[in-house]
Amino acid sequence: MLDIKIQKTSSPKKKTAADQPLGFGKIFTDHMFVMDYTEGKGWHDARVEPFRNLSLSPAAMVFHYGQEMFEGLKAYRGDDGKHYVFRPDMNAMRTNNTNDRLVIPRIPVEDFVQAVKTVVKVDADWIPSAPGTSLYIRPFIIATDEFLGVAPSKTYLFIIILSPSGAYYESGLAPVGIWIEDEYVRAVKGGMGFAKTGGNYAASLIAQVKAHDEGFSQVLWLDGVERKYIEEVGAMNIFFKINGTVLTPELNGSILPGITRDSVIKLCKSWGIPVEERRISVDELLEAQANGTLEEVFGTGTAAVISPVGKLRFKDEVMTIKDGGIGELSQKLYDTVTGIQLGRIEDKFGWRVCID
Ligand SMILES: *Cc1c(COP(=O)(O)O)cnc(C)c1O
Repeated sequence: MLDIKIQKTSSPKKKTAADQPLGFGKIFTDHMFVMDYTEGKGWHDARVEPFRNLSLSPAAMVFHYGQEMFEGLKAYRGDDGKHYVFRPDMNAMRTNNTNDRLVIPRIPVEDFVQAVKTVVKVDADWIPSAPGTSLYIRPFIIATDEFLGVAPSKTYLFIIILSPSGAYYESGLAPVGIWIEDEYVRAVKGGMGFAKTGGNYAASLIAQVKAHDEGFSQVLWLDGVERKYIEEVGAMNIFFKINGTVLTPELNGSILPGITRDSVIKLCKSWGIPVEERRISVDELLEAQANGTLEEVFGTGTAAVISPVGKLRFKDEVMTIKDGGIGELSQKLYDTVTGIQLGRIEDKFGWRVCID
């Protein structure tokens, strides 16, 4: 158990009025969680303090070599008025997998979960209540040594900030258009594709800009070696329903193991839908589309939960998935996951964690 000191702000911010749009990632709450790491001492001085700017040396290692990691999860106000987070232990375990890859010291799973619960509880009145809204939770770790040598840092900061976020879909699920990228790659096996770290995103921006310019909202990455097999979308994992079977790329080291991905696989299996985690080639998709067996395509991630894909572009071909609308399974998965999060549906898997 961490001994978390709590220092409350003396000047709380004004909250956005309930009828004003929150957007995503632009508004921050009154407090943040902070914990230091020092070599030889371990993680220490866990605290909740007023949200503030950091003071770091311009030589802090994170600015130069990108030794950092982040996580993302959400807190919700349930229909019963209580406050919940979704599977925070999974974020804690993934943090340590990321940390191992980036040579950042581990954080015990129970300490990570305790830190999340504690800071969310302090700012629980920031959890918005309008339909589809939530409090986005952003834990992250940065290397803080004042040193320009290339080596793992000896000091770190673990911080959790909170951001009230609007509904991802303002008026129900909406299908997106996706650009299958065949020039740039995101990650390769042996690299850090499975780790949630800023560098992967820095590498992805150029393709995102290209896709946006062409009128597509997200990029679908192919494998970095043959550029033949499907990997994942910008910040989402990808699923296909072909001839009644749900397919998703296997976790091969270059794909981020999404918690929503895991939840979707478990739900589909519990409904008796066959699920295959394996290599999926673009050719297999083109063929399924040509013979009419490509029934649904959707992305999964914390932000959107389920993102139906209406359009997929590969080279000169634009595939419209079914009628470009929302698949039956996509809708059912969205309703079920959000239903569990809000306490409208029985939580058979024990995914919902009350923080009160
Ligand atoms: C975070 C993330 C996902 C989705 O993971 P969830 O745990 O479902 O939110 C997928 N791909 C990438 C690259 C990510 O960073």
